[in-house]
Amino acid sequence: MNERELMSAEVSRLRALEHLALLDTLPEERFDRVIRLAMALMNMPYAYISLVSDDRTWAKATFDSLPYESSREQSICQFTIENKTPTVINDTLVDERVNQLEYVINAPNIRSYIGVPLNYNGEIVGALCALDTCTHQIAQEKINLLKDLAAIVENEFETQRLKIKSHGLQQQGDEWKDLSTKLQSKEQLNVLRAHTLELVAQGTPIQSTLHEMIAGVEREFPQMMCSILLLDQSGKRVEKCYAPSLPDFYNQAIVGLTIGAGVGSCGTAASTAKRVIVSDIMIHPYWKGFTELASKANLGSCWSEPIISSEGAVLGTFAIYHQYIREPQQIEISLIEQSAHLASIALDRHFANKLIWKQANYDALTGLPNRELSSVHINVAINNSKRNKQKFALMFLDLDRFKEVNDTLGHDAGDLLLIEAAARIQSCVRANDSVARLGGDEFVVVLNNIHDQLGVEKVARNIMQQLTKPFLLNTDVAHVSASIGITIYPDDGNELDVLMKNADQAMYRAKELGRDRFDYFTTQMRDVANDRRLLIEDLRQAISNNELVLHYQPIIDINSGTIKCAEALLRWQHPTRGVLYPESFIELSDESGITFSLTEWVLLETMHQAHAWSELIDEKFKIFVNTSLRQFIDNGRHSLGWLTVIENNPIFSSHLVLEVSEKLLVEQPFGVKDKIERLIDCGVEIAIHDFSTGYSSLGFIKQFNVNYVKINQQFISQISDTKDGQALCEAMVAMANKLGAKVVAQGIEQPQQLNLLAETGCELGQGFHIAYPMDTVQCTDFLMNK
Ligand code: C2E
Ligand code: MG
Repeated sequence: MNERELMSAEVSRLRALEHLALLDTLPEERFDRVIRLAMALMNMPYAYISLVSDDRTWAKATFDSLPYESSREQSICQFTIENKTPTVINDTLVDERVNQLEYVINAPNIRSYIGVPLNYNGEIVGALCALDTCTHQIAQEKINLLKDLAAIVENEFETQRLKIKSHGLQQQGDEWKDLSTKLQSKEQLNVLRAHTLELVAQGTPIQSTLHEMIAGVEREFPQMMCSILLLDQSGKRVEKCYAPSLPDFYNQAIVGLTIGAGVGSCGTAASTAKRVIVSDIMIHPYWKGFTELASKANLGSCWSEPIISSEGAVLGTFAIYHQYIREPQQIEISLIEQSAHLASIALDRHFANKLIWKQANYDALTGLPNRELSSVHINVAINNSKRNKQKFALMFLDLDRFKEVNDTLGHDAGDLLLIEAAARIQSCVRANDSVARLGGDEFVVVLNNIHDQLGVEKVARNIMQQLTKPFLLNTDVAHVSASIGITIYPDDGNELDVLMKNADQAMYRAKELGRDRFDYFTTQMRDVANDRRLLIEDLRQAISNNELVLHYQPIIDINSGTIKCAEALLRWQHPTRGVLYPESFIELSDESGITFSLTEWVLLETMHQAHAWSELIDEKFKIFVNTSLRQFIDNGRHSLGWLTVIENNPIFSSHLVLEVSEKLLVEQPFGVKDKIERLIDCGVEIAIHDFSTGYSSLGFIKQFNVNYVKINQQFISQISDTKDGQALCEAMVAMANKLGAKVVAQGIEQPQQLNLLAETGCELGQGFHIAYPMDTVQCTDFLMNK
């Protein structure tokens, strides 16, 4: 523009300002309200509606102690007027246009500014701006918000124009009527806009804001029914539907729908990102698949506007329905446009807040909760445990030798290790437990609702095991371990600070004692754990020290009274603790992995014993051997040793019956089917141990060609007490027989139990009434004399 053009543009601008007739007028609530909103939404202490004349700027609305007037050259708004676009100054001191201005150099020392132009009658007459005495990083979201507030001001200007225009007109005339309708509509839109922005400024939860928006529109325009649909993260399906005036069945039918061109007005608007006006639902192609639903809900027309985020993504739709066929008027188009836009502001705010919350509460590297959120989790655990009278364990975990990895392989590798370590720790806990990163290589784990020390130790051991596995970091391999401190609520303390201190102290002890271990805060628990640790160490030596022996309990053929099988039961003659029974060491053996070598030993022993008795007693003599779940699940190097022992002894293996738990057959961990098939190929028979204790499913008898089912002692003890017990036993025998399996009754302690079992047709039985478990010599004697 040349100078003359510039001059003439300024003349029209000043004419518009004069026409507006607001310069030097008294403050008005309709503008003050916008200023309040601007300060709240921009989070800045000052805001202005400044009208800019030829030589000065004058504040139509302002708060606080800033002067109402300043010379045009001294105002920052002059740039907003001249550029005709929003002006953002994050730091006035580094902006040469403004760093010498009076407000900047002197009090109140303005450091940041955001202003958007205000239009009236096609001319920019002023600016809506917000200012602060500290610097800001003003985001696009803020600029959009201020633009929306400016639209409220402009609407008020427009109302002012229409009022001025209607002033000279004769009332009741057509033009006057037309103007007053327009005025009313503008006011309605302005009320809705300001109300929504107020909700956003107050930080109202998103659901309430969207509900309020709909209620507001329906209040101002009672014949309308509105809906807001929100898409899921993929942007392809409807996740939420807010439509309080539409019937529930309609809302239910909409949620979950995949959007697309032709999927109703909203599905189409969401997928094309364009407004869709359907004035007659019954004949419109977009509604082809939905006419029945629409007619049931009594819907005639539907206009839908996409809700688009400040980053351009479609978040959902805002729609207006009527019960009859209806074409929108200009004001109604403005209404859906404005509503969709306001919904996008509210949603943008919501997502921004969510992001801020996430950034404040989660560790950016590992994605785990950070120290702050962890404290919240621990306090929740304290409250829940108090209410439900439960215990929880708090663990502090520190990686050993992490610093070395960082120093030798660099921080990037260190970061990768932490990410992987976090995932490994997380994989060891249940969904309702929590893992957090406190910083550096420190983590905290909360195990909720714990029952015993052993359960806690299992998790601690599992975490330690996972963390000692090598970490592949790009091309390098790193090894670390973990030291863990454990404290228990409420035994060791019932406040956050106390528990944190306890766990920290216990963790340091674990470090001092040589790392790669856990320790407890209390002596008593530490003693129990130490005792278990010692017992595991002893158990490792037990085989080579010849401390293990097998006892055998004969199994009788109930019908004939002959004995052709026995169950092998393990005993440990501990050098200082005396004879230990399996209950006190099988679990330790499982968790320490000793089970594999233990099983190999048991199998070799029993196969030789079975062979001996087959020559001495009966050539088909069988020995039942117990197995543990653990030996079937591990797929590591050692896990197949016991299976190989059986496969390498084909003559003996046909004398074996392996007792497996129902759990094994129900859950079928990876590779179990294959292992059982290999056993069956060797002639080994299979028995289900403790049949009917909760997992029973007769289908597995057939699937795995199970030969025996063993009924536990509890069940047998009931058989003589109730008629039902006997009937149940009879039914089980009949079913098992039908599926090709024999039934072994365990724990027969009384003669009448044996008689009753005989009546039910149960084939085999064992128990103190027949014989106690005995060592080899005694058992051989017993078998020979039977
Ligand atoms: P189980 O397989 O249920 O073994 C039967 C248990 O009941 C044995 O206890 C036995 O002594 C006891 N018992 C036998 N008849 C009666 C009776 O009439 N009344 C009562 N009250 N009890 C009776 P034990 O020897 O202490 O074994 C306990 C458990 O340890 C076994 O339960 C088995 O699950 C496990 N176990 C034993 N040996 C081994 C083994 O070599 N490997 C594995 N993995 N587990 C074993
Ligand atoms: Mg058994």
